[in-house]
Amino acid sequence: MKCGAELHPNEIGLHKKLVNRGSTEFMCMKCLSEFFKISIPDCEKLIKNFKEDGCHLFI
Ligand SMILES: [Zn+2]
Repeated sequence: MKCGAELHPNEIGLHKKLVNRGSTEFMCMKCLSEFFKISIPDCEKLIKNFKEDGCHLFI
């Protein structure tokens, strides 16, 4: 929703986890990392963790 970048489903999943599950507009990983002051590799680590937890939001 912020920069108009094309979103990977995992970025949408991450947004839902970090911001709001009911969101209909999403930030890409870069914008999320800036918003939450976390690094891109940390975002990827989070996605990996969520995925390993079996969260269906991630592929
Ligand atoms: Zn963005």
